[in-house]
Amino acid sequence: MSSKRVTCSGCALLCDDIIVKSDGLYIDEVLGACLKGKERFDQVTAKNRIINPQIKKNGELEKVPFNEALNEAVNIIKNSSRPLLYGFSTVSCEAQLKGIELAKVINGFIDSNSVICQGRVLNKSKETGITLTTITEIINKADLLILWGANAAESIPRLLNKALFSRGKFRMTGREIKTLIVIDPVKTASFGVMGVRDIALQIETGKDIDLIRVLKEECCKADSIQDNGVAGIDKDDLKRLLLHLTGAENGVIFIGQGLLRPQTREDVIKELLELVQLINVKQQKGRISVLMLGGHYNMAGFDHVALSTFGKNHSLQFSNNCLIETSETIVSKIEKEDFDCSIIVGTDPVSHFPSILSKKLMKQPLILIDNKQSATSYVADVIFPSAITGIECGGLAYRIDHVPIELKKIINPPTNVDNDEKILNKIINALRGV
Ligand code: SF4
Repeated sequence: MSSKRVTCSGCALLCDDIIVKSDGLYIDEVLGACLKGKERFDQVTAKNRIINPQIKKNGELEKVPFNEALNEAVNIIKNSSRPLLYGFSTVSCEAQLKGIELAKVINGFIDSNSVICQGRVLNKSKETGITLTTITEIINKADLLILWGANAAESIPRLLNKALFSRGKFRMTGREIKTLIVIDPVKTASFGVMGVRDIALQIETGKDIDLIRVLKEECCKADSIQDNGVAGIDKDDLKRLLLHLTGAENGVIFIGQGLLRPQTREDVIKELLELVQLINVKQQKGRISVLMLGGHYNMAGFDHVALSTFGKNHSLQFSNNCLIETSETIVSKIEKEDFDCSIIVGTDPVSHFPSILSKKLMKQPLILIDNKQSATSYVADVIFPSAITGIECGGLAYRIDHVPIELKKIINPPTNVDNDEKILNKIINALRGV
């Protein structure tokens, strides 16, 4: 039995300080991971683990040899003229690259979960600019942390341990000089870590843009805040918020799902990024940065892979094996039913999408590559089991702050279970008749 220091792929924080005790065949003990991380390691032997290829026969999923599943998948794809590929935020960058290659070979449309999450911030940043930061910089230098629509305590469990409760390399002090501000309509678990100097701002639902606009106005013209405050936040709290935003040496705004909900107007993101730029222009001694809280461990990876290969971070449409212009996204494609089969990789859109979209997705043949059962696996026509990246296979992933991290293999996957990249490659080769 030996101990190794490994990286956890339970979420996009990719904590690299996890100790795993293993004999090379099984994982005996995991030390240092949060519950979510522990669950990731437990997935190896979980009851809902998929370890056999399956195809649907007479309405029921049946275990079949890999080649039978491969033939079925190839038949579905060959009979399709508008295939859709989706997911790819819980697989390695190598698998993401293979997914894009498959989309190109079959003239498909490919999108990742990022398009309805942090990709929306990146898109808006093309108009406004963006000031990013890294986890290391936050640990070492941050004196102001703002969770905006972000329940970090539950979605990225160790983020606050590292960012808020740590002592920075360049500071004699730690938590005592760090101010936490939480802006959220819901009193989430993240409100529970607040100290006496911190500020809890329970904003009215859907009023984030009103708050941002007042802050922008106040940055330009002092005393523009009305006596009754804005968006359910009183005038004194607004002034304290502004004081921290304009006075922090190293402030960071964590943009969470609350600001990235599909129904949220794009203006919110745009105006928030504009506010940050405005403060940074006026700031004399410090700056405010943003960090996007995407949950899936390699959501940022797809943006990098797609951008570096095709100059576009999501929504790639291929025709005649070339990238063509499109304004469609995965949501609009499904809404319009502009697809005739789907290849889903490492995600569960049937649960995550609104039911109106899920129902449309389920109308067409669905091929799934994943390692755990989900609502999507129950309706799939073909299932390929995959190895768990970061445990049973290695690969590159981009952390929440867009820093690339190499994930290592710890143990072998179950017999005959390939990694996502290999499965996608086998589909490509079978389509090419190789
Ligand atoms: S915070 Fe995320 S990466 Fe870190 S141990 Fe927990 S699940 Fe794993």
